[in-house]
Amino acid sequence: MGMYRHKCLGAQLMELLSMDQLDFSSQQPGTLTDEEFESLRTNGIKVNYYVICQKKLWLYSHDIRMETRNERVSLGRLLHQRAYRDQSRRELLIDNLIKIDLLEGSGKVLEVKYSRRMREAARLQVLYYLYYLKRLGVTGLTGELRFPREKRRESVLLDETAERQVEAALRDIRRIEQLPVPPLVEFMPICRSCAYAELCWG
Ligand code: SF4
Repeated sequence: MGMYRHKCLGAQLMELLSMDQLDFSSQQPGTLTDEEFESLRTNGIKVNYYVICQKKLWLYSHDIRMETRNERVSLGRLLHQRAYRDQSRRELLIDNLIKIDLLEGSGKVLEVKYSRRMREAARLQVLYYLYYLKRLGVTGLTGELRFPREKRRESVLLDETAERQVEAALRDIRRIEQLPVPPLVEFMPICRSCAYAELCWG
């Protein structure tokens, strides 16, 4: 990771968040070397799918896309766009790879979800964003999951255990992507609302 990108991103975040608690640390988190992280870093959707279903992750990673046809996905997108319109939020695309939603002035990375059923997946996704930012040298941020339909929110903090969890997930995501065929999974209740249901069970 170059220092130039480090500083550019830091300045951009400072401006967006209007906060002074950001810390630009030279200390990298975790046990991954820079080279390993460069090779394993991925987008947030894959981290989310990794928790939901490994077959879904494999299909998505092999460019088999069904999401746009699924009404629930469209509903989720609409909710994401409309939720908390009274608060100042900014979407920031980093490295053309991860898209984070920032709540300006608070140092919070938000993830708005349709329902708490996918809570663990959303949690790891936000942890991954915090981890990614920390790799870039930006610390002092926290995460927040929001479930506007249920009027609930949950904090997400990146501690050492969470860092290890993110790193293990990144390694396992790579392993799954490299499988020659999709992993076998059992039918699950979430399959009923999954965009890939027709492909898997139709
Ligand atoms: S339908 Fe079920 S098994 Fe298939 S990708 Fe979706 S969640 Fe996974």
